[in-house]
Amino acid sequence: MSTLSLNLPTIQNWSCHSCGGCCRQHLIELTEEERQRIIEQNWTEADGIPADQPVMVKMSRMPWSKTYRLGHQPDGACVFLDDEGLCRIHAKFGEAAKPWPCRIYPFAFHPAGKTLTVSLRYSCPSVVSNLGQAVSKQGKSLKEMTRAVVPDGVEKIPAPKVSPRGTVEWNDFHQFIDALDQTFAGNATFTVKLLQALYWLNVLENAHFGLVNGSRLTELLSIITEAARADLTEDQLTIEQPRKAGRLQFRMLAAQYARKDTLVDLESGVSGRIKLLKAAFRFARGKGTIPPLQEAFKEIEFASLERPFGGLTDEADEIFTRYFRVKIRGIHFCGRAYYDLPMIEGFRSLALIYPSIMWLSRWLAAGDGRDELTTDDISQAITIADHYHAYSPAFGQMSFRRRVKLLAQTGDLQRLCLWYSQ
Ligand code: SF4
Repeated sequence: MSTLSLNLPTIQNWSCHSCGGCCRQHLIELTEEERQRIIEQNWTEADGIPADQPVMVKMSRMPWSKTYRLGHQPDGACVFLDDEGLCRIHAKFGEAAKPWPCRIYPFAFHPAGKTLTVSLRYSCPSVVSNLGQAVSKQGKSLKEMTRAVVPDGVEKIPAPKVSPRGTVEWNDFHQFIDALDQTFAGNATFTVKLLQALYWLNVLENAHFGLVNGSRLTELLSIITEAARADLTEDQLTIEQPRKAGRLQFRMLAAQYARKDTLVDLESGVSGRIKLLKAAFRFARGKGTIPPLQEAFKEIEFASLERPFGGLTDEADEIFTRYFRVKIRGIHFCGRAYYDLPMIEGFRSLALIYPSIMWLSRWLAAGDGRDELTTDDISQAITIADHYHAYSPAFGQMSFRRRVKLLAQTGDLQRLCLWYSQ
């Protein structure tokens, strides 16, 4: 039971608007206590539970499996989701009777030394649209959550490494977080700020900063972030198409974001996997039509997404800036929150979500017969992609990490950010 104080995002609002999205996207694993509570709640068809629909099922088909999750209806919705988009457990027994994962979403709590830092999942449309109460005013309920779910001793977790050899104390790690956040708080467009951040992180990585700490680190960060701001401005950027090999790696990455994991798991396992393998082959070829991996996407030509789509609206620019600042301040891109990756590597992985979201947004717009992006396309694409950020095991695998490294080393990471920003 953690009593650490919370570091809340000050630029984010959120209240639930009962869209039911999270009740369709997530498989909710239950503790034994939660399973017993649901048994005691004695759910029947009279409560609106669909006929022949178990309210809980085993996580795995293996006979020895003892872990349970909430059941889902044939359309993928949680068995407790009613026709109005409300939770039946919440309606009948109150919020406290729901399993903890349902109560916590879309919040995420991460170790930050003597505090816990709070991030949000942008798979929730209300988070993307910044709707509801200021998160900074929700400290009391968030504190209750952390007391219940965050174990003792998190303050002993060391700060994430900055690079594979760059171990730092929390005080210095927070300096990097502040510098990244300040880069995104600047006045340039989101794409320029992202390229500035990548630029100064590259300089740091090559500078073997390991011996620099405390006030010398403050000075170093001030110099290189200032240099990035001066060297990288809108009119100095040249848009180039990413190399062929980079485009292939990128399509495989975008495919990871475009698929729907929960429904495939719910579908027949083998046929679902064969479908995914065939789709992976088509993504690798990058020719012909893109296999629509979920219902939001239509079958259109790969080539049709490679022309300019009008770039970011001011609103979309604000959403991306807020999205990155919340993930940065919430340390939701490295360390314990992101497969134990060092900060620079984790940030490159986060950076790649930008061209991925822009590519998915183009797919949504082109599928609708439009040749310009709207803020709605981008918002929807963020909810699709962020569902996986830090939660899909695929993103922590070596094959994925090699892909990110290759794209960074060849300069294709920057080219992709620019190419799909237009
Ligand atoms: S996705 Fe967000 S707004 Fe929709 S039901 Fe879940 S928490 Fe509420």
